[in-house]
Amino acid sequence: MNPIKQLAGTITRVCELSPSAREYTITPSEPFPFTAGAFVNTFFEHNGKTIRRAFSISSSDSDTNTFTLSIRLSLQGELTPLLWERDFTGETIKLMGPLGLNTADKMHAKKIYLFGFGVGAGVVKSLADHMMRRSELVSLTLATGNRTIEEILHKDYFDIIATDPRVTVKYVVSDTNQTIYPDGYIQNHIRDYDFNNADIYICGQGMACNALQTAIANHQPRNCQFFIEDFH
Ligand SMILES: Cc1cc2nc3c(=O)[nH]c(=O)nc-3n(C[C@H](O)[C@H](O)[C@H](O)COP(=O)(O)OP(=O)(O)OC[C@H]3O[C@@H](n4cnc5c(N)ncnc54)[C@H](O)[C@@H]3O)c2cc1C
Repeated sequence: MNPIKQLAGTITRVCELSPSAREYTITPSEPFPFTAGAFVNTFFEHNGKTIRRAFSISSSDSDTNTFTLSIRLSLQGELTPLLWERDFTGETIKLMGPLGLNTADKMHAKKIYLFGFGVGAGVVKSLADHMMRRSELVSLTLATGNRTIEEILHKDYFDIIATDPRVTVKYVVSDTNQTIYPDGYIQNHIRDYDFNNADIYICGQGMACNALQTAIANHQPRNCQFFIEDFH
């Protein structure tokens, strides 16, 4: 297990992932080992107040010198509108982590399902990277759910890993006006999946995670384990 540290981290790069999501690259003040699936608490100072928010790590756990966070703008929120207003590149913040229970070291099945709603695709990316380095992996099936085609996150990365014969990727888009991708929600497109003897990771807003978990449970899978990361 990686020790929980309190340390400083400098935001060294900010880039757009979609109209409402950005990727923040953080360079920690010391090597920062973590296991895919982990999150960090970030502490942003603003007008004399400290704003603490949790963000899952979206980069590979093979790199301990920098990591990335995929962050979605919550229009009514306190922190994220501030991140969109001001360029934080070069600023140093306080960090605490790595934290979290739903990490790759708990997932031992040879058949892995990774589901990410919205910005939950970020941590799915980190977990996929970890799983693909396992020689014993037999199949990795991942699906992301997003509102529109423009909001599909990390598609470049997922398209590349989908060329591995062990990997299957599906992008579900809730916008029913498009015809390129399966529409609706992820749970409408799981009929062909065999969840027996699998580890199943689901990440996103609580309601979406619950709906998908219920839909999978209705298949009455044998010997499967759920890992739910609720971005409450
Ligand atoms: C373990 C964990 C991991 C997470 N990982 C990620 C991640 O990887 N990426 C990511 O983007 N987020 C992640 N989150 C969520 C993140 O921590 C923040 O909650 C999120 O970014 C919103 O922060 P905020 O300060 O902008 O919004 P907050 O101020 O926390 O508000 C949250 C939501 O509450 C509602 N709200 C707040 N104030 C009002 C109001 N006055 N009126 C109406 N509604 C209101 C809004 O809908 C708003 O979007 C994670 C959360 C957890 C617990």
